[in-house]
Amino acid sequence: MQLINPWSSQQYKDYAKLRDQFGIAPFNFDLPDAPILFRRGVIFGHRGFEYIYDAIKNNRNFAVLTGLMPSGNMHFGHKMTIEQVRYYQSQGADVHIAVADIEAYSFRGIPLKDAERIALEEYVPSYIALGLDPARTEVYFQSKRQEVKDIAWKLAKKVNMSEFLAIYGFSGEDNMSHLFSPLVQVGDILHVQLEKFGGPRPTIVPVGVDQDPHMRLTRDIVGRWRMFSISQQGATLAVFYKGEDAEKKLKNLISYLEASGFSQFKINVPYKALYILDSQKEDWIRIDRAIISYEKEFNENAFYPPAATYHRLMTGLTGGKMSSSIPESAIFLTDSPEEARKKVMRAKTGGGVTLEEHRKYGGNPDICSVYELFVYHLIDDDSYLKDIHESCREGKRVCGPCKREAADIIYNWLKEFQEKREQAKDEVKEIVSWE
Ligand code: SF4
Repeated sequence: MQLINPWSSQQYKDYAKLRDQFGIAPFNFDLPDAPILFRRGVIFGHRGFEYIYDAIKNNRNFAVLTGLMPSGNMHFGHKMTIEQVRYYQSQGADVHIAVADIEAYSFRGIPLKDAERIALEEYVPSYIALGLDPARTEVYFQSKRQEVKDIAWKLAKKVNMSEFLAIYGFSGEDNMSHLFSPLVQVGDILHVQLEKFGGPRPTIVPVGVDQDPHMRLTRDIVGRWRMFSISQQGATLAVFYKGEDAEKKLKNLISYLEASGFSQFKINVPYKALYILDSQKEDWIRIDRAIISYEKEFNENAFYPPAATYHRLMTGLTGGKMSSSIPESAIFLTDSPEEARKKVMRAKTGGGVTLEEHRKYGGNPDICSVYELFVYHLIDDDSYLKDIHESCREGKRVCGPCKREAADIIYNWLKEFQEKREQAKDEVKEIVSWE
């Protein structure tokens, strides 16, 4: 079975296959005011998004956690994640951003001081300029936040080497920091549910599919450490509430627990019908009867299993994955508008070999990096996008003017964005937490 390596620059083509292989559910939620990434299938899968959907629909608290790897310049692929974060913030989420300086040190050898400088000078002002509200956003450093490291060592006890190898496929060449770093990520994802950071609540982590190993690890660990578990037909399950009659169902469950001899338990999940998550099938089912088993660690470790959404990874302008280490493959948010324009004009397209062939047989927008820019970033109007797709297929739209259109939009966008980023530098202090 193919493993996903979160630190490689591998490009994935068949997302449906990846979804099936790793048990990722298709993303089919009808979100209010959904931005283009949600409505165009760029976000193609999820784990546990049901409670985030409930939180959005019912105006309940939820958190969003994302991270930045301070090892290079921010590009349009990173912008995509922040746009999702901004959407969740607009729907009421509090935002936590981890500077993955421990990970950058472990995997890229970047000293902590350099990581700090890159994060503060490059990433944080860009986040503000991309529209995150400084008053409801915090940026922290993995290396400075004790709670993150505490969770990492505590939960390390819940994972064995076989599981690590199965998820990450580490080899004898990997040093010990490679093994520790994913546990720090588990700490990042879960610590926002500690009382100090807002308490247990649904948490969403929007990621590229390459980060799925971290999500699987975290959700598996939480599955073993939840406030209580219900075992039914041998599966380990978690309990949630949804629907109109939540209170009645909650009371019924409490009676049931008491009748089953449990006097110490805590249920603080304000959802409405009783559903259970089958952690093996990653699916939701209703329950009527269940055998309850109690885990004594629940008091200090009542975490919601974090939800994840998965977006497609952007194709680089040169083909392959868009990557910070291949400057020509990406539009960086620090590129001058002129530089960006040149990159788009040199981009790999799905056009015919010659103009005549293109006009005769049409182009293929589905393999074109310029069309992908339109879909992911540049064109908001769905009907115009459809028109671009069709006219390219029919050979009526040709690559030169098409690239110029994309280059012009990016040129103007970058100009405006870079002005905003200059102004945002004064606000950086507001959102950085030093503990
Ligand atoms: Fe891509 Fe536009 Fe050329 Fe079609 S016409 S292949 S969308 S650049």
